[in-house]
Amino acid sequence: MPDLPAHSSPAFPPLHSPRPEHSHHLDDYGFDDDSISHAQDDSTTQHAQDRRTSQAPPPSLLSPAFTPPATPGTFTPSDPRPRPPRSVPVDTSRSTDTPRPELLEELPIVECEVRARIPTTTGHEMWLHVYRNNVDTKEHLAIVFGTNIRSRSLDREREGETELDRMTRGAYVGRLYPGRTHSRVTQLKKEEAVMPKAHSDGSLTPSSASSEAGDTASEVGDSQMPLVRIHSECYTGETVWSARCDCGEQLDEAARLMSNPAISPSGGAIIYLRQEGRGIGLGEKLKAYNLQDLGNDTYEANVLLRHPADARSYGLATSMLVDLGLGGESGIRLLTNNPDKVRAVEGPGREVVVKERVAMVPLAWKTGGKAGIKSEEVEKYLSTKIEKFKHMLTQQ
Ligand SMILES: [Zn+2]
Repeated sequence: MPDLPAHSSPAFPPLHSPRPEHSHHLDDYGFDDDSISHAQDDSTTQHAQDRRTSQAPPPSLLSPAFTPPATPGTFTPSDPRPRPPRSVPVDTSRSTDTPRPELLEELPIVECEVRARIPTTTGHEMWLHVYRNNVDTKEHLAIVFGTNIRSRSLDREREGETELDRMTRGAYVGRLYPGRTHSRVTQLKKEEAVMPKAHSDGSLTPSSASSEAGDTASEVGDSQMPLVRIHSECYTGETVWSARCDCGEQLDEAARLMSNPAISPSGGAIIYLRQEGRGIGLGEKLKAYNLQDLGNDTYEANVLLRHPADARSYGLATSMLVDLGLGGESGIRLLTNNPDKVRAVEGPGREVVVKERVAMVPLAWKTGGKAGIKSEEVEKYLSTKIEKFKHMLTQQ
């Protein structure tokens, strides 16, 4: 089996290996910071501020959270071709060894309220979709790469709306440009016939006009299944540079794979569920971090985070995928290291069909520790996932 993660790489010591016990001194924990006990004292406060200024976070923490399109160390300069992700064929209709996860009997009803084109810092574009649903009040998101994947509920006609209303909520085909008057391609084509050079920015190319001819969304082809990732919001890992988990890196990697036409020609979608800390909320998650710092082993502390899989959330993800035209037998490729997720995402009536599972190998493993998150905490965090991860690899 080629390209297995090097579990014995320097960045990731073997499981249960004895680690040299770090000798702790109170000084290591910042107890000498006078700002804690003498905040009223102007001179020591100033001293503390000076210390903070001089102890800026290392550059790695300040680097952009987004992975550049070509991650240094991922590809060798002599081979500029992107390496396709490892795929594992899946057919849950035949397998009986894995118990079917607890799922809602009926899928939630979802509706895409609005979408917009978002140019990203990597130079690629994505389409951000905001969804509402009938089971919670959160705005769950779909981050869509490519122009083949369209929301049915967004495109649906709404009573009494104008063409400007449609374009404002993102229910248009092709691209917007100053002065555009219609959301639909057919009307634009009529205008184009009258005014062949109405716009020169390539905003409505012949290919987009033909592939999305009419006002219905195009179906995704069988041969190139789109990539899909179900991702739960992680404020700490995605926004404030936390190295306690690899959520930010996984989100970046999913975006990198989906935005690369060579790897994912038919695009992809990240279903971004607003369920911080697997649904327990940021406050409870921070308490679990404190328990870890108090010396609980990773597993014990993770029990707080590892609540049972939320059937409602998976139902939402399934409904959103169906709305995006990714349901049915044409199938998807699911980016996950968690085999249990496959059946959960497929839904109670197999509304979505996962035909391949694609591994998300941590960057540090792929690159022998040259790239990816480096911290004592993330090593512990990832080591709790290794057993499951190995299980997935041995199924190949
Ligand atoms: Zn996280």
